[in-house]
Amino acid sequence: MSGSSLERVSWPEVDGRRADGPATLLVPLGATEQHGPHLPLGTDSHLAGVLARVAAARVPDTFVAPTLPYGSSGEHQDFPGTLSIGAEATELILVELGRSAAETFDRLLFVNAHGGNAPALAAAVALLREEGRDVRAWAPRWGGDAHAGRTETSLMLALAPQRVRAERAAVGNPTPLPELIERLRTRGVRSVSPNGVLGDPAGASAAEGDELLAAAVDDLCAALRAWEPCAMAGSAVP
Ligand SMILES: [Zn+2]
Repeated sequence: MSGSSLERVSWPEVDGRRADGPATLLVPLGATEQHGPHLPLGTDSHLAGVLARVAAARVPDTFVAPTLPYGSSGEHQDFPGTLSIGAEATELILVELGRSAAETFDRLLFVNAHGGNAPALAAAVALLREEGRDVRAWAPRWGGDAHAGRTETSLMLALAPQRVRAERAAVGNPTPLPELIERLRTRGVRSVSPNGVLGDPAGASAAEGDELLAAAVDDLCAALRAWEPCAMAGSAVP
C-alpha cells in the first residue's frame, strides 16, 4: 500500500505501515489566491494535492496529508477572493505541523505549489531540521511564465478543464518575474498586472499540461526514492 490519504485511514492503519520501515508523510501546500480572470482561486492547492497524491501512489510507505489551502499571498491581496495568512503565520503553521507529524512519521516532505510560500517554508524546514527532524521541501520547477499564464493554464486544462474559464483568458504582464519582483513585493501584483496574470495564457493546452505534470511527478518520485537516512541536525539544506 502506498499513498494512503490520512483523511481516509484509521490510526491502526497508519501504525501498521510504520512497522514495515520508514514512513513518509507528504503535506501539500497551496494557496487561496487570484489566478487571473480565468483560473480558480484554488489553483495552487489543486496542483499541490494532485502532485502529492500521484507521486505517493507510486512510492511505497507514503501517506498524504490534507492540503493546506492557505498560505502567504499578500502580493495578491488587492484581488477579491484572495485569502492570505501571511508569511509569519504560514511559517508557524508549518513548524507546528512538522513537529506534530514527526511524532508519527519518520520523514516529512512539504509539496509546495505556491511560490509565495517559499521563504516561510524554507525557514520552517530549517528550524525543524535543526531540531533533528527529517523534513524536506519540494516544489515543481515548471519553467515558463510566472502566474496564471500559459504554464498554469495548461496544467489546469489537463487536470480540471471544467474549472477553467477559457473565454476570459487574457494576456497579463509578460515581463520576467525577476524584473517585477521588487514592485510586486512593495505594491502588489495589481500594480503591474490589472488582471492578475503574470505571463500569457495564449497557447495553453491540456497536452502541454500533461507533459508538465508527468515531468514534475517523475521529479517528485525521484526525490522520494533518493531519500537518505536523516542527516545530522543542521548539516544539510533540504
Ligand atoms: Zn499558482
